[in-house]
Amino acid sequence: MGKALIIGCGGVASVAIHKCCQNSEVFEEICIASRTKAKCDKLRGELAPKTKTAIHTAQVDANNVEELTALIKQYQPDIVMNLALPYQDLTIMDACLAAGVHYLDTANYEPEDTAKFEYKWQWAYRDRFRDAGLTAVLGCGFDPGVTGVFSAYALKHEFDEIHEIDILDCNGGDHGYPFATNFNPEINIREVSANGSYWEDGRWVETKPMEIKREYDFEGVGKKDMYLLHHEELESLAKNIPGIRRIRFFMTFGQSYLTHLKCLENVGMTSIEPILYEGREIVPLQFLKAVLPDPASLGPRTVGKTNIGCILRGVTDGKEKDYYLYNICDHQECYREVGSQAVSYTTGVPAMIGAMMVIKGLWKGPGVFNVEEFDPDPFMEALNRWGLPWKESHHPVLVD
Ligand code: NDP
Repeated sequence: MGKALIIGCGGVASVAIHKCCQNSEVFEEICIASRTKAKCDKLRGELAPKTKTAIHTAQVDANNVEELTALIKQYQPDIVMNLALPYQDLTIMDACLAAGVHYLDTANYEPEDTAKFEYKWQWAYRDRFRDAGLTAVLGCGFDPGVTGVFSAYALKHEFDEIHEIDILDCNGGDHGYPFATNFNPEINIREVSANGSYWEDGRWVETKPMEIKREYDFEGVGKKDMYLLHHEELESLAKNIPGIRRIRFFMTFGQSYLTHLKCLENVGMTSIEPILYEGREIVPLQFLKAVLPDPASLGPRTVGKTNIGCILRGVTDGKEKDYYLYNICDHQECYREVGSQAVSYTTGVPAMIGAMMVIKGLWKGPGVFNVEEFDPDPFMEALNRWGLPWKESHHPVLVD
C-alpha cells in the first residue's frame, strides 16, 4: 500500500520500524535514514529475514535540507516519519515541502540553544503545507500523541463539553541504575529541569520545577509521587478542545532520580551553556548524555509497567461527568516483542499508527495538524490492534 522514509534509528525509531515491519500490508517498503548508517543496517539485518516489508537504509544529516530533499526525491515515500530529535523538525518539514511529501513527528521543535519548546515554529508552516496540498501530523507519540487522541475520543463519545484534563504519565519501571533516562537524556533533562506550567482560565500559570507534587495510585503500578511539568500537548489541547478551563500534566519520578538530578543541576552538569574545557567548547548536558546509559540499552534490564492516560471532567446532557482513558504497558513484554523498553514502545507504536492513518487516507489535510484535530476512532481501534490496548473508567479517582 505505501512507502515510509523513517529519519532516526534510536530508541523510538527502532520500535516504529519493528511495528512497520509487522504491518507489511500498509508499509510495503521503508527506508531507515539516520546520521549513523551502521545502526540502520544492523536493524535491517535483524528484521529483513522476518518481514515482508522491503527495508532500505541511507545515511543522512537531517540538519541539511538539501541533502534530505535529495534523499526524499530519490526514494519518493508517501510520508516522512521524523523520529530523530526535536532540533531537526523544521529542516525535515522544509525538505518535505521541497519534495512534496507528507510529514509526521513525535515531539515539537526546540531550538538547540534555548531549552524552550513551543508549537509556534511549526504552526507557522500551516499555509505552506496547505498550499502544497500536504499533511503534517505533529506530536504523534504517546504524550503528546495518544493523549490528544484520547481527548478527541472523549469529546466525540463521552462529553458535550470538556472542562478539565489531567494527563498522568507514570513510569513504574525499574532499570536497576541509580540514574538513567528512558529516552534521549538531553531532551529528557531539558524537559524536567525547566519551570512547570499549566493552563487555567485562558492563561498559563507558571511553577518552579517540581514545585507541585501529588500522589496517585496507578493501576498496574501502585502508589507513586508525580510532579506537575509543562508539556507540549497542553498548548495544542488548550486551543483545540472548545470550552476547556484547565489542563495539567503530571509525571512520576522516583526519589533517586530527583536526588541525582538536583545534584547534577547544582554542579552545573545540566547546563546547555557551552563551557571551555581543555581548549575546546563543550556543552555540559551533552557531555552528561555521553556518560549516561544509552536509553536503548535499558530494555533488557527494565521491569515493571507504565500507565499513561487522561482524566477528563466535563458535562454531558447537562450533567457533570468524570472519565479516565489510559494504557498500561509492561516493560518486559515490550522487550520480548521488539527489544525495547515501554517508554520507546509507547512512543514508537503511535508513530507507526499515525503514519498508517495518513497512508490509508484516514487522516488527511492539507495543512499542519495536532492529532486531536483528526477523527480519533480509527486510531483508537489501531491502538488495540497494534499493542497499546486502552482501558476506561467512568469513576476515576481525581487529582486535587
Ligand atoms: P535517540 O537519541 O535514541 O535517537 C535519536 C536518533 O536520531 C538517533 O538515531 C540519532 O542518530 C538520530 N539523529 C540525531 N540527529 C540527527 C541528524 N542531524 N540527522 C539524522 N539523524 C539524526 O532518541 P529517542 O528515540 O529516545 O527519541 C526520538 C524522539 O522521540 C525525540 O524527538 C523525543 O523527544 C521523542 N519522544 C517523544 C515521546 C512522546 O511520547 N511523544 C516520548 C519519548 C521521546 P545517531 O544514532 O547517530 O545518534
